[in-house]
Amino acid sequence: MKNTVHKKVDNNRSCRTSKTLYRYFAALTAFLVCFSLCGCDRIFGNDRYDDPYYDGGYYNDGYYDDDYYYDDYQTSQRVPNLISHYIDVGQGDCEFIEFPDGETMIIDAGPSESGSNVVRYIRNLGYDRIDYVVITHPHSDHIGGMKKVIDAFDIGAVYMPKVETTTSTYENLLKAIQSKNKKIKTLKAKTRIFDSGDSSLKVETLAPNSTSYEDLNDYSAVLKITYGKVRLLYMGDAETVSEREILKKNYDVSADIVKVGHHGSSSSSSKNFVNKVGAQYAIVSVGADNDYNHPSSQIVSRWNKSGAQVLRTDKYGDIVVTTNGDKFDIDTEKE
Ligand SMILES: [Zn+2]
Repeated sequence: MKNTVHKKVDNNRSCRTSKTLYRYFAALTAFLVCFSLCGCDRIFGNDRYDDPYYDGGYYNDGYYDDDYYYDDYQTSQRVPNLISHYIDVGQGDCEFIEFPDGETMIIDAGPSESGSNVVRYIRNLGYDRIDYVVITHPHSDHIGGMKKVIDAFDIGAVYMPKVETTTSTYENLLKAIQSKNKKIKTLKAKTRIFDSGDSSLKVETLAPNSTSYEDLNDYSAVLKITYGKVRLLYMGDAETVSEREILKKNYDVSADIVKVGHHGSSSSSSKNFVNKVGAQYAIVSVGADNDYNHPSSQIVSRWNKSGAQVLRTDKYGDIVVTTNGDKFDIDTEKE
């Protein structure tokens, strides 16, 4: 973060401000903050901020300093981004992904009380269609909000592992899917949800690898998105049983950013697995002061020791990863 400055103002989300902005444009920041009356964020990234080519054109309406060249801006505008939103749904899970070609994916939708928020969040991004609906497993903190999402949007393909429950939340979800005339596509390990063909963008599953488990969490679909050099892993609530299976199959779990399994519970994130992932950022989707004491402090320090910075949705609010397939940066709603 040496020689470029960015004020990232997003049309749809709250204003986002980089650390370097504070350094170079403190006065301007104060003015904009007051003027826009919205919260500002800390920015994380993969230590590639010192590349003016990358930073310059990242957002359409970015401010920039003297090191920044118009030609670079023009060129980098043509690099499409993949954006992964880890939406703060309290105690639950919800990720929304904008693909470079304009298609979208949702992975879970948090508990039922977060459904309206999730719908609003996606609408605010400007979408009325979700091309891929992925349900990692049918626990209410993952599917509770999904009925509202399915009702509210034009829906493409729906994916879920082959496992059923008898809860009314689950029954209502099935009805919502039926009412859109959609059939559920079964998710298991090595399902190719999307493949660009030239390996520039791939969305695949690493789990579940078995057809029956004792714990519903282990049925969780584990997704890996690879966009160019940048790899994002989404663990659902997969626990150590599933992690062990994934490693036994020798699947490549390495990732730059991981959505930590089961809200940072000690039943997931086994040492071997965490080290194999080798993430720079570990995102924990969790509610403040939740009844489960998630995340486990032992698991947080395990991810830290592996080299990852842990970002929690209860502390940072919505977390947004933006990547052009080469570099990425991370914006957060709250500090
Ligand atoms: Zn969960």
